[in-house]
Amino acid sequence: MKALQYRTIGAPPEVVTVPDPEPGPGQVLLKVTAAGVCHSDIAVMSWPAEAFPYELPLTLGHEGVGTVAALGAGVTGVKEGEAVAVYGPWGCGTCVKCAEGKENYCLRADELGIRPPGLGRPGAMAEYLLVDDARHLVPLNGLDPVAAVPLTDAGLTPYHAIKRSLPRLVPGSTAVVIGTGGLGHVAIQLLRALTPARVIALDVSEDKLRLAREVGAHEAVLSDAGAARAVRELTGGLGAQAVFDFVGAEPTVRTAGAVAAVEGEVAIVGIGGAALPVGFGHTPFEVSAYAPYWGSRAELVEVLELARAGAVSVHTETFTLDDAPLAYERLHAGTVKGRAVILPHG
Ligand code: NAD
Ligand code: ZN
Ligand code: ZN
Repeated sequence: MKALQYRTIGAPPEVVTVPDPEPGPGQVLLKVTAAGVCHSDIAVMSWPAEAFPYELPLTLGHEGVGTVAALGAGVTGVKEGEAVAVYGPWGCGTCVKCAEGKENYCLRADELGIRPPGLGRPGAMAEYLLVDDARHLVPLNGLDPVAAVPLTDAGLTPYHAIKRSLPRLVPGSTAVVIGTGGLGHVAIQLLRALTPARVIALDVSEDKLRLAREVGAHEAVLSDAGAARAVRELTGGLGAQAVFDFVGAEPTVRTAGAVAAVEGEVAIVGIGGAALPVGFGHTPFEVSAYAPYWGSRAELVEVLELARAGAVSVHTETFTLDDAPLAYERLHAGTVKGRAVILPHG
């Protein structure tokens, strides 16, 4: 089968032919319908050889949907031909975090060598994908595969962070979304669907700010040195009760800390590598900051339900598998509107 692989440190990913996978006991083989292109893959492909945690070559793609093509011995609960989304942050299934459904925070994944598809294990940018366990599949139940595939990460990750801030996002409150790309443009819609908060979006690109307004942001502000002041002014000096930074770079975490309200919460979701110093005099009183990773299986079910109810619609641009390297170039250049989605079978 054809697959998009990251093969050489520092080189672009390549479309290659690899052996067709076959499901072993307990595994499910999916015929991949669609796979999403996440900025995290670009970060992965920028890591130096000495700090690279996975084996090469690596088939990319940690957002996947497909139809069940074959079942390994002993698999129950899914049927051949069923359309499913893949829950990506696989865990051991038995530790206390997994027992809570939070496989994204599995306490034993590292020790057991369990990795998500596309982030260690062969990913969804291929004609077929092996899923390690049927519990990592959620039925699409009629959702369009292209529109649904980004929800498995670009939807689930912001949903998890926003859910934590829901008690703060009461009428009259403000939420700030920094970076309105794949994750950010879904975050704006989730905030509008789940809260009465005013949503202020920040980005460096006018096109992305236009998209932010289109998907429901009340205000869209250029993310520059004056952004924090602009947000303070828009909120009558109070700042934002919840800030979601989908960049995580030095200038954005600085802005995030500066626009937080007293007792506000800052989620650093982007993996730009910057930290927000929290301490007396550094941030407004009682600001808390955290860095989340992906979301729980139950939260993925909830995000898909929201999409089925029409509350979120992901903007997508589709590419064939042969054109997948181009999708990464476009994402790197900042010219993808919403999420790029690869269609391995055209
Ligand atoms: P994307 O490229 O689609 O979107 C990023 C957006 O940020 C773009 O619109 C870009 O114009 C904007 N941007 C860049 N610099 C900015 C600045 N200084 N101020 C404001 N906006 C700026 O990327 P994505 O796929 O949505 O991913 C966003 C980030 O989230 C990446 O760092 C990715 O690695 C990370 N991520 C984290 C998790 C997690 O679990 N923590 C999960 C998925 C993605
Ligand atoms: Zn991702
Ligand atoms: Zn576990």
